[in-house]
Amino acid sequence: SAEVVPQAPEDPMFGLLRAFKADEYPTKVDVSIGAYRDNNAKPWVLPVVKKADEILRNDPNLDHEYAPIAGIASFTSKAAELILGADSPAIKEKRVTSVQTISGTGAVHLGALFLSKFFPGTKKVYVSNPTWANHNQIFSNVAVPVAQYPYFSKQTKGLDFDGMKAALSEAPERSVILLHACAHNPTGVDPTLDQWKEIAAIIKEKNHFPFFDSAYQGFASGDLLKDNAAVRYFVEQGFELVVAQSFAKNFGLYGERAGCFHFVTGPAPDASETATRVASQLAILQRSEISNPPLYGARIVSTVLNDDQLFAEWQENLRTMSSRIIEMRKLLRAKLEELGTPGTWKHITEQIGMFSFTGLTEAQALKIREEAHVYMTKNGRISMAGLNTNNIDYFAKAIDKVVRE
Ligand code: PMP
Repeated sequence: SAEVVPQAPEDPMFGLLRAFKADEYPTKVDVSIGAYRDNNAKPWVLPVVKKADEILRNDPNLDHEYAPIAGIASFTSKAAELILGADSPAIKEKRVTSVQTISGTGAVHLGALFLSKFFPGTKKVYVSNPTWANHNQIFSNVAVPVAQYPYFSKQTKGLDFDGMKAALSEAPERSVILLHACAHNPTGVDPTLDQWKEIAAIIKEKNHFPFFDSAYQGFASGDLLKDNAAVRYFVEQGFELVVAQSFAKNFGLYGERAGCFHFVTGPAPDASETATRVASQLAILQRSEISNPPLYGARIVSTVLNDDQLFAEWQENLRTMSSRIIEMRKLLRAKLEELGTPGTWKHITEQIGMFSFTGLTEAQALKIREEAHVYMTKNGRISMAGLNTNNIDYFAKAIDKVVRE
């Protein structure tokens, strides 16, 4: 009977959000949730999304029938071009299988499920320490054991490159290596392209399997090609690999759950047939999990990606978001340096994407919530998008105070 079911803790992230909403303090600040906010701390519907929505609403041919099991083809094909590059050899050689998923989470899950079923030799998936907390749960759910490779150096607040390389070299052959394509969550620390090359060489030597998670393409730097450079490099190197792709952040379509899973087979003579067989199996898995993916978000993304003018406008919207965040990084660092806050703050402008790993301890993260009503996750991660020109002074002073205590 269900009497044996133990109480589970609330999801820490959504628990924080709930507490923030209930807090009536006038100058409270939410830097917990990874969602873009404009300079007035409000959610931002991308202007290009409004346009696409208008186009869809005026289309007399749209209905609410089921999407195909693998999703809307005009969406999945453009999604593949976006992450792999339109001129990708893998696309030309028909080595890519793409399945529309329930946003990035669904894509990671579908990939994990596929690997657990068809790569029986997979002993472990290696994730960065730290990583997006959901990675652990998703792989555990399909009984793939999770191990960690070092990633973040507390000393430099940058990449622990030597630790990462050593762990990848020591991992048993044919391990799955989970990599954040860009804008690492939660640290905001990415390898340089030269470092990616060294990482790729180790992964190749050890016959590991790269599993990319791409949740921030274009959102991180404002440049779609810069933000997929690691994935493109790995494909150029002839890896068989997978990518979980989310459109939550870069289209501001968080709740619409638009995402895609891509399986890229290596450049063998029969690679295209292999891809076809992979597609057939993914369709079976998808059918039993969700039957058919949701329409609305994918229709919006497809409308934009298939129209040159809207595509250009989307890139402008991406630059609006990424440049506001970069501006906030500069401002926050400048304010902390101006206040003479103990410690170094260079990492705030060196890290990229939605998040900054401030280096604040768990005790400080809890204290700043109690004292200043500033809500950050207990690992000291802040969402840069939660800061704006109205609250950054207050925020910097709160950090300054808690660091000095
Ligand atoms: N991977 C990473 C690293 C993320 O940060 C996120 C968003 N928090 C996701 C995947 C997936 O998010 P969603 O399911 O909303 O697309």
